[in-house]
Amino acid sequence: MPYCTFQGIQLSRLGMGNMRLPVTGENGDTIDVAKARTIIDQAIAGDINYFDTAYIYHNGQSESFLDQALLSYPRDQYYLADKFNLQADQNYRRQFKTQLERLKTDYIDFYLLHGVSDDSAQTFLDNGCIDYFRSLKKEGRIRYLGFSFHGKPETLEKMVTRAEWDFVQIQLNYYDWYYGTAKRQYEILCEHHLPIMVMEPVHGGMLANIPEEARACLQTVAPSRQPAEWALRFVTALPGVYVVLSGMSTTEQLSQNLCTFETLQPLSTAEKEAIQQACTIIHQSVGVPCTACRYCLNHCPQHLNIPELLQFYNEYHTGGKWRLSRLKAEDPAKLPGNCIACGLCTKHCPQDIKVYQYLHEMDEDYHSLNP
Ligand code: SF4
Ligand code: SF4
Repeated sequence: MPYCTFQGIQLSRLGMGNMRLPVTGENGDTIDVAKARTIIDQAIAGDINYFDTAYIYHNGQSESFLDQALLSYPRDQYYLADKFNLQADQNYRRQFKTQLERLKTDYIDFYLLHGVSDDSAQTFLDNGCIDYFRSLKKEGRIRYLGFSFHGKPETLEKMVTRAEWDFVQIQLNYYDWYYGTAKRQYEILCEHHLPIMVMEPVHGGMLANIPEEARACLQTVAPSRQPAEWALRFVTALPGVYVVLSGMSTTEQLSQNLCTFETLQPLSTAEKEAIQQACTIIHQSVGVPCTACRYCLNHCPQHLNIPELLQFYNEYHTGGKWRLSRLKAEDPAKLPGNCIACGLCTKHCPQDIKVYQYLHEMDEDYHSLNP
């Protein structure tokens, strides 16, 4: 495992994200502890030492799970990254205390304001949380302070000029580089000499499942390399990128990622060109850029499985409307027509996806097939 030096400590370049752990239970809302522990053990065996969680991941179970999973390893063998979520509880003192209790630790290595957006940036800057976390840093309860970001470059610029940070975490992948604002965000952080932690390097799995034509385009340069490996190589090759997080749900994914990081090399000109061409093809095929982060789930008053419905939207848009007949087997209460267009999901969506528009369209298409 390659490492990077961050303020004198060694961090594994691959970080373990704990928001997509394997789940069990009727609604898939309980961490499958046995399977998830196997992943954590394998991550440690693979020399990963950066473990990222958040107050809201898996409805609060992720932090407690991580404590249990890492219990048998010395605390100085790994680094914990955790986040303050404004929407879950504005009381930052209480939230931090709960996090220490859940993690059964008396300090957090990397602490982030969670999901700073165009809407929330000013609140984060004004509500006193930054000064409070800075005081915790002086006490040694936080080692490094940063924020994760989902917003416009102007807002990022504002955040990095109005306060001092040790690092910033952004959504960075080749798709958002060419078709989003990731490149500009990256440049801003480089201009401010801020270490970059990367989230969504594979765009929530989208860049692992690319259209055949895009895959063929990449294979002309490296016939046996998998699409996810291309995505990981793209971000790790960027100077200034430190840890690349991957929310791994299976031991197979982890094994593949470990292999990728064992053989990291800078991208050649031909490889960069192949990525750009593949990206154009992917862009033409993408319907909704949902990353399946599930941030919206708990906010839907209709209890709709939004990421699943949006994934299905993409499937029938590329595979044909006939696929909608699958909805006949679904619980009627979970169908897209139940959306009341309240917009609460969009408010909590880092990608600003207008979910109700897609669900409305899906509902109309479904009824046109089944009048
Ligand atoms: S807009 Fe629709 S999908 Fe989104 S939260 Fe409201 S009811 Fe749920
Ligand atoms: S709609 Fe947005 S918030 Fe919901 S899962 Fe997709 S990307 Fe995440």
